[in-house]
Amino acid sequence: MPNMTMTKTPMPEQKPDVRNHNFEEVALGYTEEMAVGEAQRCLNCKNKPCVTGCPVMVPIPEFIAHVANREFEEAYQVLTKATSLPAVCGRVCPQETQCESKCVRGIKGEPVGIGRLERFVADWHMANSKEAPKKPQQNGHKVAVIGAGPASLTCAGDLANMGYEVTVYEALHTAGGVLMYGIPQFRLPKEIVQKEIDGLRAKGVTILTDMVIGKVLTLDELFADGFEAIFIGSGAGLPNFMHIPGEGLVGTYSANEFLTRVNLMKAYRPEYDTPILRPKNAAIVGGGNVAMDAARTAKRLGSEHVYIVYRRSEAEMPARAEEIHHAKEEGIEFRLLTNPVAIHGDESGKVCSIECVEMELGEPDASGRRRPIEKQGSNFELPVDCAIIAIGNSPNPLIPANTSGLEVNRRGCIVADEETMATSLPGVYAAGDAVSGAATVILAMGGGKKAAKSIDEYIKSKNA
Ligand code: FAD
Repeated sequence: MPNMTMTKTPMPEQKPDVRNHNFEEVALGYTEEMAVGEAQRCLNCKNKPCVTGCPVMVPIPEFIAHVANREFEEAYQVLTKATSLPAVCGRVCPQETQCESKCVRGIKGEPVGIGRLERFVADWHMANSKEAPKKPQQNGHKVAVIGAGPASLTCAGDLANMGYEVTVYEALHTAGGVLMYGIPQFRLPKEIVQKEIDGLRAKGVTILTDMVIGKVLTLDELFADGFEAIFIGSGAGLPNFMHIPGEGLVGTYSANEFLTRVNLMKAYRPEYDTPILRPKNAAIVGGGNVAMDAARTAKRLGSEHVYIVYRRSEAEMPARAEEIHHAKEEGIEFRLLTNPVAIHGDESGKVCSIECVEMELGEPDASGRRRPIEKQGSNFELPVDCAIIAIGNSPNPLIPANTSGLEVNRRGCIVADEETMATSLPGVYAAGDAVSGAATVILAMGGGKKAAKSIDEYIKSKNA
């Protein structure tokens, strides 16, 4: 049945009071009937405003038209011309500020559920396609890729398709970057990311884990090994702290550490012996996706009270609207216009409370958001045994520190040309969070794509 209403076909979901006790995926995905009905809401506009909202210019109306005609494999083929990780993007892209924000349907009602349809098509392909990825004919040229997050996986995939012999060097024991260690299972099942990685291997990409470039091997050594170009997609995995008293107490984590212990070290599975605190009450400092993920994870580990402590109001929160909505439904308590000033410990050095002050909003600051101002004398304490800091991440300085001539900006991000992703060193390209600072999966993928194209041109011109 076509969906003729002003609203998106609702996404089937686990009930909030059930899902906040398990790590299964929250959103269950459209059925074929739901997808076809939703696809029929697309007006197939001539000027395709949705495409302009997508950082990798997915031909959105074209893939949706195939869904409307039940041509799901054709829809997948269209999608994957522009994005190599549709099952991931369909789940985690901030569509509400990208493609869906430009949808004409959104003027009078809700936009077409583009992300939900993307996810449907990708999942349908995974469940139904029998065709194994083919290993492209190799062209005899070697490229090294550093890191195995979405920027690197995209770059490696595109280069492999062009015939390059690609070796990926990943610091952790598992490939996938934030998709594996950061974003929780209940938002992005790891099996999906693993399938994408297996697909790359099937195309002939070699992935070496436990390889910290800058320590184990330098860029010069990679060149000396016969790689003609290097791509750096080392992300932004260095957590920022508030530098308030008490950040060293037992029970204080960076969100990255907390999430890595749960996701990558499988702390959520009883048969795993991962050391992690299962907090009784936890305060998460921050208002982005990372904060929401940490809060919802703490809840699932059994916390009674989980507080989001954020110094501005909900309107300024950088997290996706859907994540905020899901967090609230699951019982996360929002302490807005609240800023921590100290974390207090008991006599054994364990966190026992977080001291905060109330804030009010003043004039907009350089970020365009209203500046939070402290209300003098408004200090109060929240009794918690765990404080998780989720106020942002910076690029890890290891590679720039060990690579002479690799230019970085004052935020520690590798400087790369916006179009070619070329760095200050010949033959070295970079993209993703390592260049932009903490951003999004789709932007990292877009950068990885541009870099693959530039690397191909660079190697061809060198060998012409
Ligand atoms: P990463 O994914 O960080 O991958 C970099 C990889 O490089 C890592 O595997 C790292 O181990 C490896 N590496 C680092 N240094 C070295 C070295 N010296 N040698 C070898 N390997 C190295 N974005 C969204 O679009 N939607 C979301 O919902 C969303 N939620 C998020 C939730 C969390 C908890 C976090 C942390 C981020 C989230 N993001 C989200 C942001 C998004 O995940 C990142 O922007 C994206 O993963 C960046 O991709 P990348 O490839 O540049 O880096």
